[in-house]
Amino acid sequence: MDNQFVFMFDQSEGGKKELLGGKGANLAEMTRIGLPVPYGFTITTVACNAYYDAGQIISPEVESQVLEALRNLESRTGKQLGDLANPLLVSVRSGAVHSMPGMMDTVLNLGMNDETVKGMAELTNNPRFSYDSYRRFIQMFSNVVLDVDNYIFEQRLEDIREEKGYHSDTELQADDWKQVIEEFKSLVYKTKKRSFPQDPKEQLFLTINAVFDSWNNQRAFLYRRLHDIPGHLGTAVNIQSMVFGNMGDDSGTGVAFTRNPSTGESKLYGEYLINAQGEDVVAGIRTPQPIESLQKEMPDVYQQLVNTCELLENHYKDMQDIEFTVERGNLYILQTRTGKRTAQAAIRIAVEMVKEKIMDQREALLRVDPDQISQLLHHRIDPEQKREQLAVGLPASPGAATGQVVFDADEAEELSKDGKKVILVRPETTPDDIHGIVAAQATVTSRGGMTSHAAVVARGMGKACICGCDSIKIHLESNQFIAGPTTVNHGDTITIDGSTGEIFLGEIPMIEPELSEEFQLLLSWSDEETNMGVRANADNPVDAEKALEFGAVGIGLCRTEHMFMDASRIPTVQNMILSETTKERKDALAQLLPMQQEDFEQIFETMQGYPITIRLLDPPLHEFLPDKEELLVDVTRMHLEDPHSSELQEKQNLLRKVRLLEESNPMLGHRGCRLGMMYPEIYEMQVMAIFNAMSNVMDKGIDVKSEIMIPLVSHVNELKKMRQLVINIGEQVQEETGHVFDYLIGTMIETPRAALTADQIAEEADFYSFGTNDLTQTTFGFSRDDAEGKFLQHYVESDVLKRNPFVSLDQEGVGKLVESGVKLGREANPTLKAGICGEHGGEKESIQFCFDLGMDYVSCSPFRVPSARLAAAQATIRNERKNCLKEPQYN
Ligand code: ADP
Ligand code: MG
Ligand code: MG
Repeated sequence: MDNQFVFMFDQSEGGKKELLGGKGANLAEMTRIGLPVPYGFTITTVACNAYYDAGQIISPEVESQVLEALRNLESRTGKQLGDLANPLLVSVRSGAVHSMPGMMDTVLNLGMNDETVKGMAELTNNPRFSYDSYRRFIQMFSNVVLDVDNYIFEQRLEDIREEKGYHSDTELQADDWKQVIEEFKSLVYKTKKRSFPQDPKEQLFLTINAVFDSWNNQRAFLYRRLHDIPGHLGTAVNIQSMVFGNMGDDSGTGVAFTRNPSTGESKLYGEYLINAQGEDVVAGIRTPQPIESLQKEMPDVYQQLVNTCELLENHYKDMQDIEFTVERGNLYILQTRTGKRTAQAAIRIAVEMVKEKIMDQREALLRVDPDQISQLLHHRIDPEQKREQLAVGLPASPGAATGQVVFDADEAEELSKDGKKVILVRPETTPDDIHGIVAAQATVTSRGGMTSHAAVVARGMGKACICGCDSIKIHLESNQFIAGPTTVNHGDTITIDGSTGEIFLGEIPMIEPELSEEFQLLLSWSDEETNMGVRANADNPVDAEKALEFGAVGIGLCRTEHMFMDASRIPTVQNMILSETTKERKDALAQLLPMQQEDFEQIFETMQGYPITIRLLDPPLHEFLPDKEELLVDVTRMHLEDPHSSELQEKQNLLRKVRLLEESNPMLGHRGCRLGMMYPEIYEMQVMAIFNAMSNVMDKGIDVKSEIMIPLVSHVNELKKMRQLVINIGEQVQEETGHVFDYLIGTMIETPRAALTADQIAEEADFYSFGTNDLTQTTFGFSRDDAEGKFLQHYVESDVLKRNPFVSLDQEGVGKLVESGVKLGREANPTLKAGICGEHGGEKESIQFCFDLGMDYVSCSPFRVPSARLAAAQATIRNERKNCLKEPQYN
């Protein structure tokens, strides 16, 4: 039924999460299996969206369906909402498709008022319980629906406890709670100028509204952004008859995980409180007891809980997080969901469930989130250590680090040259700060999102980073930042955790990353499942080493410009760029040749025969030159000092050339193969270095496979020319050395024109690597640095774009070019090798896309290689399942 907005728990078949939300679907499913679930009904996410479409109004149709379901619930329980003798009480619970623990609102004990509380007291012969329940309801309802700060209730309650000399809430008697209730009601009146609503139906609909509204509260909004949950899904609302854990010492409430969510150990893990309601456990008002002691306190209940956990885990075939309540010795199950877990636990659980034959290898591979496992490749804060949290920002790049606070990139570089460990703290970072990011142990910014420059760079290097930490106030003038009550000065030590976004004061001990046996095993299963290779982007032997350690089967992108950036080489590089004649340039290049050659030799040796894609020089040349503004300042100053000095003339000369090389749009300017076209001697030097290095390494008996990549081609004729250049030098060096080189010539597809004419280009190429960073820039017409700083975040937050296209490949647009590029290329040249080397190469959804297009490999930063291996396996398995309908679908 299209217009059914409300489903009773036993009316809907399980599994319809999109409609019922995760909580609702599982409550229905558990009811169906016959577990003791208090009866109730679910208002669908469709109703939530209709509510928003109508301007936050519940339609008459939904209202009447709710009332009908309520009558149904009343006849089933034999109680009535608002009845004076035997009142029905319900909980009103949020529950979205993706679980968002604690992000939205829930109200318990709804239906209580000044009259029903008396009925309950008589009926249960337990006035203390009844009045306690009422005050809880007033507290939650006022907070969630009337927006009264919960703090003022807690504060008042604490005062009353003190006045009466009580230590905990359990000591308050019925009369005490009556007094609390009166005071709470007048607090509500004082702050909101309205009396606490007494009509249960009014209470109910106000709460339903409030739960719908909580879909868009700040917390929920941020949580969705962090987890890429779309904003249009909406939440369902579950209305469920209450069971009471606060009826005495034979009652209680708790939470149980079927396995340890932190380590993965296969042992029931949980906590509970005697004589309490659900909220008490999570809110931390009382310290709960470990689940083991329930075995002594209530052996029957404990055994029943253990059996239920086993049943649920087997049913859902995954670790479950279960909420339960015991009312007078009877166990009720109030929620089950797939338990959130650390990366370590995720891997252990997946591997052990295969051993226990709960699932097969393939299923286990699908159960681990590739994004999560990169956590395991970085140093981590020892969880056993005490810490003092200063602030929390966006967890932009995982890993933990300790160091002295510095506020300037140059200083970060200088101090770390002296062997100091520093953490760079900046309001935001610009490309000018890269050297600081490289030098620092970690970077923290108070502005900018997860895709900000700092984050992207840090992730690429496997360095910890926190972005957008707007709760710290940075004062660059006074060299300090303020976090709440704490002032942190330049030079103070802090520790940060890039996996959680937390910043701590002082040093906290770290533990080494462990590639556990289970992790290795899971990755080896991954490799068994797929033929798609995972390579790494690596520019130096250290990165190449890491890549191999993490299981890369080659280098998919070796950027040669980083070899030019080295401080000791920059003067020679600058000479080369500034030379006025070809002869001068060739002289400078001749000096660079041995340096570059040595770099290649080291990388070739490290890679021991695995293929290496080397990209010839790509960035605009002025990136290697001094900053124009700084030169200008120097020139002005020197002019004042001595207008005739020869140094001044030199500087002026330099400034003139820097100005000549300046471009209005460097991203679209004189770069890529356009450099090779205008200054072939640069590419000739690089190719010569590659072949000489190959020859030297082959002399040592080591296998070398190189793939020479011409960047930023947009017309086949560019490639034709550059290809010939490579071939000529190859022939020359082969002749000189007597070696036969195993090498390919290819190009990076990173302009729309190249993708559109991929068939022509394929005639001249042995391989294609999709440079999806630039292809995204050129397809959207976005300059990445400008977009991420100025409008991209807004686009994502306001749903103009589903995701940041620099993080996850824009499949509809850029993807179309990639798709037709592969197709056209393969048609023209069936042996064409195809891969991707943008940052997308390490992102799971983009990997799936590349797999579906039949690419041979993806390439990503070394630290993302393990998660890319897993994502490649998942892509392969999912692709096969799509073609085989009989395969079971879990979850
Ligand atoms: P959250 O999603 O924040 O966990 P829940 O809707 O699950 O919110 O409810 C919060 C707490 O209230 C949980 O401990 C839950 O077990 C308890 N609770 C919810 N509904 C009932 C009910 N009908 N009877 C007893 N306890 C309930
Ligand atoms: Mg819950
Ligand atoms: Mg590029």
